[in-house]
Amino acid sequence: MSLRLKILELAKKYQEEMVETRRYLHQHPEVSYKEFETTKFIKTKLDELGIPHESPLETGCIGVLQGRIKSDRVIALRADIDALPMDEEGEAKKEFFSKNPGAAHCCGHDAHTSNLLGVARILTDLKEELEGTILLVFQPGEEKLPGGGKLLCDTGFLQSRNVDAIYGLHTSPSHSPGTIATKEGPLMGSPDEFEIEIFGKGGHAARPHEAIDPIVLASQFVSSAQTIVSRSVDPTEPAVVTVGRIEGGTAHNVIPGSVKLWGTVRTLNSETADLIASRLEYIVKGITDGAGGAYSFTFNKGYPAVNNTPEETEHVVREMQELFGEETALIMERPIMAGEDFSFYQEHFPGAFFFVGSGSDDSESTYVWHHPKYNVDDRFFQTAAPLMASLALRKD
Ligand SMILES: [Zn+2]
Ligand SMILES: [Zn+2]
Repeated sequence: MSLRLKILELAKKYQEEMVETRRYLHQHPEVSYKEFETTKFIKTKLDELGIPHESPLETGCIGVLQGRIKSDRVIALRADIDALPMDEEGEAKKEFFSKNPGAAHCCGHDAHTSNLLGVARILTDLKEELEGTILLVFQPGEEKLPGGGKLLCDTGFLQSRNVDAIYGLHTSPSHSPGTIATKEGPLMGSPDEFEIEIFGKGGHAARPHEAIDPIVLASQFVSSAQTIVSRSVDPTEPAVVTVGRIEGGTAHNVIPGSVKLWGTVRTLNSETADLIASRLEYIVKGITDGAGGAYSFTFNKGYPAVNNTPEETEHVVREMQELFGEETALIMERPIMAGEDFSFYQEHFPGAFFFVGSGSDDSESTYVWHHPKYNVDDRFFQTAAPLMASLALRKD
């Protein structure tokens, strides 16, 4: 039997287990950097498989799976394990709702974790045919800056292991189970955050001439900030500026003293992000100076853009096609602007990130990531597990 057929059979054999594990994790979500019980759970599963593990960070861990075929080859497979600080909704997943109030797996990281544990099981069964070392990276804190991926790279653990290539995946509610989507080069955006406070002078709503109205200044800022992408950024360069939250004032007849704004900037490279950051500050300075107000401005650089190396991307696409047929691998025309801290690994090692279809109407799993009703179709595992396992095994 070919190695790919064996992988597919094992993935079927462990389907129920992966589904159950995902449901268990879904019921016990933990937010970024607080994944203590999740980490214990993962370590217990690795212990059961006889896979030694290391803990370079307080949460998360790295399973070190040694193949029987001696070689220097080191492949890393990454899954993020954290949940979001939110509550969830939805009929389809009612049976396994979060038992931790204020935390929910609404980004599918429960499925990523369960999948990588399934892959660990498949690869353990195929140890005789496994070459070199497979690092099973269970990474904490993907959802929160500075990013577990960054912290892990800062420890130098993976660098000391001379990783040849790293692969990571994400559930995709906009793709059907049984398909993947990816592309070489930029795949996902770089998300940065800004926080602004505009200081005016408070007063009576009926005597605006005696006040400096920060609500008017904030409104001007929000409109002017929209000209950054259309007037300051190269038109061929993708960029987003969004003010997502604005807070100021207490009553309809009071001019408040200050207004706070929070926003996000998405780009595909750090130069564009720097340009936008400086334009944002120029604009808020110009508007507040002009009115005699003042401001504070902070810009927090988030994750770099996910940038797939050609060889590894081709490997993902080819393995998918070998396993499931030519038409199952979709090559995306353009990147999406959501961010992912997988990008930190790609600053050190060749690597590819890809989306695995997890959305269908029957399992109510087409809601976008971070939606309270977000769900993952169980069939996700039948693509994700064999493909990940296949990437770890050398077949030629
Ligand atoms: Zn997310
Ligand atoms: Zn995610």
